[in-house]
Amino acid sequence: MHINDAVFLEDLCPKFRIRQWRKSIHRFTGKSCIYCGKPSESIDHVLPRSQGGLSVTENCVPACLSCNGDKSDENALYWYRRQKFYDPRRAMAIRAWLEGDLRLAIRLLQWANPNFKKRNKNQEKDESEYKAA
Ligand SMILES: [Zn+2]
Repeated sequence: MHINDAVFLEDLCPKFRIRQWRKSIHRFTGKSCIYCGKPSESIDHVLPRSQGGLSVTENCVPACLSCNGDKSDENALYWYRRQKFYDPRRAMAIRAWLEGDLRLAIRLLQWANPNFKKRNKNQEKDESEYKAA
């Protein structure tokens, strides 16, 4: 059944649209791995395709090659719980992502990732400068 699903997506979207879609997924997390926060170099299927996982945004998260390779065909949430870099906020973010609530997922990731906070501070600064001008 999962093989049919994969073919279905390929048929539905021309290749350039798939590339745009992949890019947009990386953009959601600021190009960082949803599991460990390192630069994301790949798209990981939370529920593996071998277990019927679909190639849709709700099931596809940005991941570094190390996490993606290590996780392999396991269910992401079970795998993630055993990792040294496990962070409950990230686990919640993955759950929210799976439910299609990307806004909540991103907020949780920002909370878990200090680099995100820095960027937000800069944005606030920019806004206040704008108001002053
Ligand atoms: Zn990673």
